[in-house]
Amino acid sequence: MTDADIETGHEELWKQVFGEGHPVLVKKQRRFIRWPNDPRCKLCYAPFAGFGGFMVRLTGLMPSDRNPHYCNKCDGFLQAFPGGAEVEMTVLILDIRGSVDLSGRISPKEYAKTVNKMREITSAVIAENKGFILEFQGDSVVAVFPPGFTGQDHAAKGISAARGILKQSLKIEGSEEALAIGVGVHTGPVYICTVTAAGGNMQGVSIFGQDVNFVARLAAHAKAREALISPSTYYHAEGALPEDDLVEIEMKGIESASRAVRLT
Ligand SMILES: [Zn+2]
Repeated sequence: MTDADIETGHEELWKQVFGEGHPVLVKKQRRFIRWPNDPRCKLCYAPFAGFGGFMVRLTGLMPSDRNPHYCNKCDGFLQAFPGGAEVEMTVLILDIRGSVDLSGRISPKEYAKTVNKMREITSAVIAENKGFILEFQGDSVVAVFPPGFTGQDHAAKGISAARGILKQSLKIEGSEEALAIGVGVHTGPVYICTVTAAGGNMQGVSIFGQDVNFVARLAAHAKAREALISPSTYYHAEGALPEDDLVEIEMKGIESASRAVRLT
């Protein structure tokens, strides 16, 4: 998903952080999530703004200079323990339908504003469902719902986030035209790890594997304002597949996963 270097190592630690929840981190998350205000550290949820932001600064916590999505302590943690582990989790990818056409129709500035607004609105829905947003990729948003962060109901949370995203009214900048986005959600084992950008500055966390390719394809197959939920996510969250909402999807190279549940 990225050009940065993939880190391996500290496998037990990362399995615990994303798979089960690290006791120290979970304690911090539970405390900080009750403090105002967003934005927050992506790992420990320390608030960076408002009264909460003021309070955490008194304890020496602040946004990292190099890596403003993380606090200085979590950034130090990523740097001290680079690595990753394979963890079963729910992955959500959304992107803009016909983005090449759209970027030709409106100015680059309007396009950038459209994408920024889309990220802002959808990120809030993902955060409400305890998702962890990976570094933004072009005009798409990639989020994971790891059990260590989200809980054992990560598949249900992923579906809930997809439904929440479809309810948002996203507009193309400078017009009243709706922005066409498609969403894919899938549950499976992914390799989640820290990645280092060129120059040695820690960039953040990313995911890799066949299941990541699969959810990207689901997102690409979804029509405008539609979410395609993989059978594995649906089984995990709700049980039997709803026959009326099943769609067949042709996917080269992925033989077994050719059906998905359509949400509109
Ligand atoms: Zn933090």
